[in-house]
Parts: sequence; C-alpha cells; structure tokens
Amino acid sequence: MPADSDAPRLALASARPGSGDRFAREDAALAVLSPLNAGAAPGNLLDLDCAGIEALFREMGQKPFHGRNLFKWIHKHGVLAFEAMTDLPKGLRAALAEGLSLRLPEVVREQPSWDGTRKWMMELADGQRIETVLIPDGHRTTVCVSSQVGCALNCSFCSTAQQGFNRNLSVGEIIGQVWHATRALGRPPSNLVLMGMGEPLANFEAVVGAMGIMQDDLAYGLSKYRITLSTSGIVPALRRLRECSDVSLAVSLHAPDNALRDQLVPINRKYPLEELVPACKAFIAGDKRRKITWEYVMLDSLNDSDAHAKALIRLLEGVPSKLNLIPFNPFPGSGYRSSPTERIEAFRQRLLRSGLMAVTRKTRGDDIDAACGQLVGRVHDRSRRLSGPHGPAVEGTR
Ligand code: SAH
Repeated sequence: MPADSDAPRLALASARPGSGDRFAREDAALAVLSPLNAGAAPGNLLDLDCAGIEALFREMGQKPFHGRNLFKWIHKHGVLAFEAMTDLPKGLRAALAEGLSLRLPEVVREQPSWDGTRKWMMELADGQRIETVLIPDGHRTTVCVSSQVGCALNCSFCSTAQQGFNRNLSVGEIIGQVWHATRALGRPPSNLVLMGMGEPLANFEAVVGAMGIMQDDLAYGLSKYRITLSTSGIVPALRRLRECSDVSLAVSLHAPDNALRDQLVPINRKYPLEELVPACKAFIAGDKRRKITWEYVMLDSLNDSDAHAKALIRLLEGVPSKLNLIPFNPFPGSGYRSSPTERIEAFRQRLLRSGLMAVTRKTRGDDIDAACGQLVGRVHDRSRRLSGPHGPAVEGTR
C-alpha cells in the first residue's frame, strides 16, 4: 500500500508554525501584550511555513518534498484545491482533503480609490473583520497588512485604536492577506508593510512566521529590504526580533520627548525614548546600508514647531535615520488637525538642513479611509480600556 494513502492522523493545532517554537513567551511584557490567543483554526495548512509543512508530512509518514510542493501550490501558484495539485500522489490529495484544510480570510468588500489604492475588508472564521490596503505607486505596489483584530495600544490619534482590541491574527490570517493581494495583482506585491490594523510586535510569533513566508522564494520571495514592520516601540520584542528577522524597521515616534510621546503613544510610559532609541540603533547595527524609518504624524500646533524639530535632531543624533512625516489623517471625533502643508514643509526643511533624511508621506486612499490610521474593520472589542482613547493601553487589556 503506498504511504500516501494513509489519512493524516495529525491535527495541525499541535503543529506549530516553523519559527514559533523558538519563542516561548517567557517575556512578561510580551505576555501582557499578547493576552488573547491567535485565531489559528485547527488543521489550517495556511498557518504553516514550508519547514512546518515538511515536518507535518514527515510525521504523517509522507515524503517531505511533497510538503514542499504543496507549499508552492498554495503560495506561488495560488491553488487551494488539493485535487488540482497534480504533482502530489492522488491518495495523498484525498487524504489531505479529508483531514486538513486551506482556509483564507474571505474578502467581503473591495473599495477602489480614485488614486488607484484598493482597500479590502476581509472576514475571518469567527466573524471579525480586518482591512488590507494595496497601494500602487509607479512601478511599486505596496500591500499594507493587518496583524491584529483592532489594537490595544490606544494611540490617541489613530482610529484603529478607537475600535478596541479583540485578538491576534494567526499566521494564516496574516499571509492570507498577501495571498489575496497577489491573486488580485497577478504577481506578488513589490513591497509589504506591516502597518495595517494592530501592533505587529504584540503578535510576535505569528508575525515572524508570516514574514518568513513573505521572504521564502517558494512563496512570495520578497527581500528583507522590501518588508517593513512598523512598531510603536515594544522594546523587549524589538530586541528579540533582531535575533530572528532582518526585515526593515519603521518606528512610530511622533514626538521628540517623553512628556508628549506619553500622551500620543501611551506605550511610551512603559518603554520610554531612552530605551527605545538605543534598541532601534542596535537593531540596524552592523549593516551600514540600513536606516531606521521614524514615522512622525504632523499634528497642528502639537508636535510641529521648530523647537520640536530641533529636539528631534538631538534625539536622533548618531542613529542612521530617515524621517517619514505623515500628515494627520482625520477621522470623526479625533480632536486633532493636520499641520498645514507649509508647516510640514518648514519642519522637513529644518530636518534636512541638519543632515537628516526626511520625506513627507503621500496621503493615499483617503477617500476610502485607507490612509494611515484609518483602518477599522469590524472588531468585537474584548479589551477593558480604563479611560477612553487617552487611557492606559495595555494594563486594561485582558
Ligand atoms: N501599530 C503599528 C502600525 C500602525 S499604522 C505602529 O504603531 O507603528 C502605521 C502608522 O500610521 C503608524 O506610524 C501610526 O502611528 C500612523 N497613524 C496612525 N493613525 C494615524 C492618523 N490618523 N494619521 C496619520 N498617521 C497615523
């Protein structure tokens, strides 16, 4: 009897994404920040990287190279029907169909913007909804991916924060967004940014697992320079990321001093600038071509004066940096206004004169609420935030 006629006896719930095992959640801070379990559905092969599928096949008594081919079918060719995977033995295909599944988030709405940006709303198995954005720009196409259902960090100027937080996304739910974008484009996107809903470093294992698949030549084949993880600055996770991933880093700075940053990005109370900046510097140490991208939302009369620019220059002295100035994208009830264009330009010029690289981020897709900080989805809030959008972000989360 050929080995491949054995039905898989193994449920995937026990098989961890390839890179996950290395990161036991011993870090107390991370445990607090990842309080709710990822939504990995048992048996979903989309939750595994190539090594994970090979290991699973080995355990099933199958040849690992069949697992490799299966991985290619899913991610390179976009094929999800086992029976269409013609280089897998027929018995194996039947066994896979019986015991395992390939479940993607479902696209429930697509919104096109006048500027070519497209926003997808995707529904997950438990009915939660997340958003993903595709941004064409000349020969580049960037896909902005969500990492959590909602966000627990409560940045006061971000509309995702207002939705609250439900749970982490699984590897399959993160890479599933890339899968859909690749099918819609007919090729993998040229760039991926983890800048959608959620704080990627608060969902460490799934995000690292998904980024591995993004980089795998058998899947989407993106180089480390074309994947950018954006974080509000969870310092222990940043240190850990350095040990296992070499993707590019963007950090949501938004203020040059702790007093102001405490207000805008409350996680700063836990990991203040004197810890964050050295950790970022260490992240790129040893690679002269790399810079940290600092995101800086331009808020009228709040963080946009010449004095703020000067303080920023001092703060980033000696750190290979690029400043990304983001005009504030409004949403109802935010209470903030964007700095006027001339102020943003004056601020930028001040940075440039000091030798800092600084660009103003183009606002894309604002007519469909697809710009930075405007993604909302449908989140059943399970966080118990103590005092509204400016209150403690993490402590109030179950
Ligand atoms: N949690 C991650 C990803 C957030 S979204 C992080 O904090 O980095 C990506 C960027 O958009 C972040 O820099 C975020 O601070 C910024 N942002 C959030 N809301 C915004 C808004 N309303 N206008 C402009 N930028 C915003």
